[in-house]
Amino acid sequence: MTETQGGSDLRQTQTIAYDNRDGTYSLHGSKWFFSVPHSDVFLTLARHEEGISCFVVPGWRPEGTRNGIAIQRLKDKCGNRSNASCEVEFHGAIGHMLGDPGRGLRTGLSMNHNTRLDIAAASAGLMRQAVMLAGHHAQHRTAFQRLLIDQPIMQNVLADLAIEAEAAAWLAFRLFAAVDRQERSESEKLLARIGAPLAKYWVAKRTPAVVVEALECHGGNGFIEENPMARHYREAPLNSVWEGSGNVICLDVLRSLEREPGSLQALRAELHAVSGQDRRYDAALQALENDLHDLIRHEGQARLLTERLALMLQGALLIRHAPHAVADAFVATRLGGHWSGHFGDLPLAVDVVTLASRAVPEV
Ligand SMILES: Cc1cc2nc3c(=O)[nH]c(=O)nc-3n(C[C@H](O)[C@H](O)[C@H](O)COP(=O)(O)OP(=O)(O)OC[C@H]3O[C@@H](n4cnc5c(N)ncnc54)[C@H](O)[C@@H]3O)c2cc1C
Repeated sequence: MTETQGGSDLRQTQTIAYDNRDGTYSLHGSKWFFSVPHSDVFLTLARHEEGISCFVVPGWRPEGTRNGIAIQRLKDKCGNRSNASCEVEFHGAIGHMLGDPGRGLRTGLSMNHNTRLDIAAASAGLMRQAVMLAGHHAQHRTAFQRLLIDQPIMQNVLADLAIEAEAAAWLAFRLFAAVDRQERSESEKLLARIGAPLAKYWVAKRTPAVVVEALECHGGNGFIEENPMARHYREAPLNSVWEGSGNVICLDVLRSLEREPGSLQALRAELHAVSGQDRRYDAALQALENDLHDLIRHEGQARLLTERLALMLQGALLIRHAPHAVADAFVATRLGGHWSGHFGDLPLAVDVVTLASRAVPEV
């Protein structure tokens, strides 16, 4: 979909679709980002007389020749190298319209919803692997006559990383459950609607921080290309760029609150369901309720709004489902105020030894 003039504002799409009057269209134009060009089929946007529409473009024509998609060059990316991304030109590529004419952005967005959740899960997975690698390293590396995993500061860092990865996984999978149930439950559908951009934004945003800290746990070895951490380091920022960059995702959160007020009620119900179990959580929820009106009203506050909603939802999920030590550490830091956002800041009362052991892979 992305063309040179913009990937976020797809209303600027310049590719043209000519109606062949036989149920197909001929597409002419260029795309600036076009991943996996060896696919059998592509979804793309192009303009025709009724506006921007979505098209299915096969990689091959029925007679077995290549469709009119000319690869200009492969992108030389700083990460994500196993996925070929390229620039292409459409020279009369044959396409079939998908969805209603002139409603291409809406058709695309309906799919974006799922890919954004997919990204939240992928980022949670990337976090988890980085944390496991750090835990494994700390369990086997000795410094100052002690294993790293037995050093108090390292325990605090690993414990903090472990709860971040756990919170990310709970957030993604709770929302997948909502998607699974959305045909049967309106509130689950509304929760999935607002939850997908929340999770996409927040989990993708936290991933680079987790990966960098996990890399540092390896010392210099983590910065060497032969170590898997180097690849994770290069991959980590991508999920907050594609499928809607951070700001654009936060605008989507605002849009869902504006157009579907029920989504906020569904989220509130999820958050209030666990109130009364932890006074710090209750205080954070009350503070959010107090600030909500202003946060929603000012576009420039959309990141803060998204972050606070995502953190509250993670806190609610951990209180409900995770072991007490995990929920306690999360609430004490992420919802308790004075959180720096860095790792290794867990307060004295937190059981970092138990939590750090959750970062070590079971063998
Ligand atoms: C490895 C890789 C593979 C990709 N593969 C594909 C692909 O297969 N198909 C495809 O279509 N695209 C693909 N993309 C492109 C990607 O989806 C876009 O780069 C992304 O959507 C952002 O668009 P842009 O680069 O034009 O940035 P812009 O739209 O110019 O945005 C630049 C910055 O401005 C911000 N911004 C935009 N609008 C606003 C606003 N209203 N308020 C505040 N801030 C704003 C954005 O959040 C972003 O931070 C790929 C990108 C990468 C890196």
